[in-house]
Amino acid sequence: MDNFNPSQPRASRPAPTVFCYICGRQFGSKSIDIHLPQCLKKWHAENDKLPKNQRRAAPTKPDDVIVGGVVDREATNEALWKSSQGLMLECEHCGRRFKEDRLPVHQRSCTADNPAKRLASKSRERPNK
Ligand SMILES: [Zn+2]
Ligand SMILES: [Zn+2]
Repeated sequence: MDNFNPSQPRASRPAPTVFCYICGRQFGSKSIDIHLPQCLKKWHAENDKLPKNQRRAAPTKPDDVIVGGVVDREATNEALWKSSQGLMLECEHCGRRFKEDRLPVHQRSCTADNPAKRLASKSRERPNK
């Protein structure tokens, strides 16, 4: 990002953000504490809906990455984000990965007989903000 605006001195630091290790969204360091229990609850709810052979063990929070005795925020965030990506389910038909609540939606159009094409295109998923 290079939207540095010289007319706006950086008096206040931007609130630090952390990734949720479950859903991969970013939160402020305060709201993550509120979000995590809810997200985990939701994860369990979704997981319980899955056929038994697709259910997974509950996600565990990756440890903070310590570098030189201090927490490396960036590396820790990356570990958190990677964790969330690892939690996504792979579509058995096309091999793409989806959040568990997205997979059933995707599989309405992606079936064993007619799998979705692997994307080689610019059609990106909208970031859901
Ligand atoms: Zn989350
Ligand atoms: Zn698929």
